[in-house]
Amino acid sequence: EDTTTPRRIKLLDQDVVNKIAAGEIIVAPVHALKELIENAVDAGSTSLEVLVKDGGLKLLQITDNGCGIDKDDLPILCERFTTSKLQKFEDLQSIATYGFRGEALASISHIAHLTVTTKTRESNCAWRAYYESGKLAPTKPGQSPDPKPVAGRQGTQITVEDLFYNVPTRRRAFRSTSDEYNKIIDMVGRYAIHCSNVAFSCKKHGESSTSIAVQANASCLDRIRQIYGASVANELTEFATSDDRWAFRAKGLATNANYSTKKTTILLFINHRCVESSNIRKAIEQTYSSFLPKNGHPFVYLSLEIDPHRVDVNVHPTKREVNFLNEDEIIQAICEHIRSKLASVDASRTFLTQS
Ligand code: ADP
Ligand code: MG
Repeated sequence: EDTTTPRRIKLLDQDVVNKIAAGEIIVAPVHALKELIENAVDAGSTSLEVLVKDGGLKLLQITDNGCGIDKDDLPILCERFTTSKLQKFEDLQSIATYGFRGEALASISHIAHLTVTTKTRESNCAWRAYYESGKLAPTKPGQSPDPKPVAGRQGTQITVEDLFYNVPTRRRAFRSTSDEYNKIIDMVGRYAIHCSNVAFSCKKHGESSTSIAVQANASCLDRIRQIYGASVANELTEFATSDDRWAFRAKGLATNANYSTKKTTILLFINHRCVESSNIRKAIEQTYSSFLPKNGHPFVYLSLEIDPHRVDVNVHPTKREVNFLNEDEIIQAICEHIRSKLASVDASRTFLTQS
């Protein structure tokens, strides 16, 4: 091969660019699902039903009872950067809803078959639309791509079929559909615990029993009991702390020193978005190390609200990484508070066993 003469540079097909971008946002079915859950919650839903086939690779369906989508918006729904949540760059700073970039549905439509059925309160019927690569498309060749009127209740049903059908390398990377299903249950469970007043269900297609089923009126503690079991729920301590200096408010439930397990579980929500933070994880593990036996780990549900101006959510397309101002101070304040809670529970326990 001749490496002395440069090869000419060419622009990639838009279609290829779109697929690459989509594949960066959605690496596994659970990432599509997370976006769909956030959209449903943003739409004010009080009920969310998730249906899954083959770990979400064959079918991922989420049905909500939220505000629905205006029929006139359906033609642009799945185009990139179409959103009802953001108007100008400054809005990024104060955005309170979860999604904000109008990329989720667009991405999904590039790497899966996407069907949307939706009804607003004002509309007297529901509308069904099918999408391919960001655009309305006919379900069969020769038919019209226009949305069709169908019977339906208020809310939105998003059906994602054959995820990665046109990205064979990605598709082949999935070894086990049950691993993917477990990730989906984990994510639905996290949102089910965080979103009070919202009912959640999740089940495999063709099975009558649900993997997750929580009622809208279930308390946070009840939700944890149903999803993580009584052994966790029975040993939880509530906590809440805030500091105006760093403009944050934190609350949650953390296991006390009676509980210890092999692996730390942290359900972390920052401004109501499920995120990961290795800094918070490390600090929490450090906090518990003086209360738990060696190799013992806690369960912590932490909802952290920070002044949106101080959070940078725009760091990575996956939006899983979140950075915020005064991170060290805020983490320290939260862990100090949890430490004092653990110490007081521990003291009363010692007192009880002594008396
Ligand atoms: P974003 O959430 O960042 O705005 P999305 O691609 O996830 O972008 O969604 C685009 C738009 O579609 C949203 O802004 C919202 O108006 C609408 N939408 C998506 N899902 C739903 C839903 N379940 N209920 C009502 N509207 C929805
Ligand atoms: Mg969204």
